[in-house]
Amino acid sequence: MSDIIHELRAIVGEKGVLDTDALSSRVGNVWSGAALNAKALVRPSSTHEVSQVLAHCNKVGQPVVPLGGMTGLADAGKTEPHEIALTMERMNAIENVDEIGRTMTVQGGVILQNVHEKADEAGLMFPLDLGARASCTIGGNIATNAGGVRVVRYGMMRNQLLGLEAVLADGTVLNGMSSLIKNNTGYDLKQLFVGSEGTLGVVTRAVLRLHEALPGVGTAFLSVPDWVAVMKLLRTLDKKVAGGVIAYEVMWRDYYEVNTGETSDVKSPFADPVEFFVIAEMPFLNPETGNDEMEELLAQVFEDGLIVDGVIPKSEEECERLWQIRESFEPEKKLYDTGYYFDVSLDLAAMDDYVNSVRTELKLVAPQADLLSMGHIGDNNVHFSLGGIHENQIAAACAIVYEPLKELNGSVSAEHGIGLEKKAYLGISRTPEEMEIMRRIKTLFDPNNILNPGKIFDLT
Ligand SMILES: Cc1cc2nc3c(=O)[nH]c(=O)nc-3n(C[C@H](O)[C@H](O)[C@H](O)COP(=O)(O)OP(=O)(O)OC[C@H]3O[C@@H](n4cnc5c(N)ncnc54)[C@H](O)[C@@H]3O)c2cc1C
Repeated sequence: MSDIIHELRAIVGEKGVLDTDALSSRVGNVWSGAALNAKALVRPSSTHEVSQVLAHCNKVGQPVVPLGGMTGLADAGKTEPHEIALTMERMNAIENVDEIGRTMTVQGGVILQNVHEKADEAGLMFPLDLGARASCTIGGNIATNAGGVRVVRYGMMRNQLLGLEAVLADGTVLNGMSSLIKNNTGYDLKQLFVGSEGTLGVVTRAVLRLHEALPGVGTAFLSVPDWVAVMKLLRTLDKKVAGGVIAYEVMWRDYYEVNTGETSDVKSPFADPVEFFVIAEMPFLNPETGNDEMEELLAQVFEDGLIVDGVIPKSEEECERLWQIRESFEPEKKLYDTGYYFDVSLDLAAMDDYVNSVRTELKLVAPQADLLSMGHIGDNNVHFSLGGIHENQIAAACAIVYEPLKELNGSVSAEHGIGLEKKAYLGISRTPEEMEIMRRIKTLFDPNNILNPGKIFDLT
């Protein structure tokens, strides 16, 4: 047994460390199914243990990769055989729900869906929501500044965070577990860990902000004739509910046809083919009359020419089935042997032209591949899947997708993060001065570069 495994077992106990043999059955990424390839998996059960593990690894120069639910989509949690993976799976407790202050105190390894359910029990809600809700963790959500489907109303993970406890590379515990909404006492250090992708510290605990549960949520599934209508519809609906639109998800026809096609269990509720499909979620003040109000609203936007057709699901089952058209990746996984995924953001006014130009240019370098486009358009975020792309075409496709974003002042990652996957393109969205400050912050927090080294950017 190697010295490091022996030493880490002295800290976290025999079962707290799985060596390479014990890891063979473990997956390193839920999405890709890649194996967990690491020297060992350490499973601390307390902040104190995380601190001792990191202090020891720092002393001996042992690189450590923090892991949450392993649902990340940017290779930020990828491990190498010489690295130690540190999982938060045993630190998954919900410590407290404060119904008066509307906060929840959790450990970093708690699963997002458990946070939803606990908030629900208290008549409250935690708004961050994404397709990986049943597997991803709050620590991972913080480390990636996760977005998802409700950002248009509630903001991203960083907006849900009141307090945070993190352990730095040298074992220092930074306790910022404030539950205050207002706290202007110098630099907001917790925000440095948001989106840091495990490179600055391990998030061990957090105080989350909860919101009042909505009395009712109405969902409309709409077919929309053109991009101008997509943009106007968002404004119209949001105005109607005083800025309260909860989700505004758009699918381009290419994506929609795959997700309602032969490899999908869900079929399109619309007879006429159009270019865009929208799922909009809006709050009802009165659940009794909410659907009637929604019907009226749809009649109005139909008259205004903003929609071609619309469906208001009559049951939760119907609603879930319609959401599947947007959220399920099974149909495209069945249809294509290979795929590559993008997550970019840019101004709405420029978005459709950009998507069309990406589609046209892509056909020149990868004629057999299909561009499938959809996204959280309420917050400027479009996702692409390149179905059927070949490995040797990916670099050219990345150039086509990323390079125009410089001029458009867009972002190469709206919500998934940089990880390893987008390192080469970070300079498109960040200036050299910003990159230099990021490097200095990393060096300040982790001078020996042991925490998730090589992710987001290189130090030299
Ligand atoms: C089907 C599907 C749908 C998705 N939809 C969305 C979406 O709509 N919006 C969105 O933003 N993302 C989405 N994602 C991506 C992913 O779910 C998020 O990035 C999520 O926040 C990752 O959380 P995790 O716990 O799985 O983190 P992991 O994948 O385990 O780790 C991600 C990064 O966070 C670091 N990390 C994890 N835990 C900690 C910790 N406790 N302390 C410090 N660093 C840590 C890791 O080192 C790594 O760098 C989706 C993924 C899937 C598979």
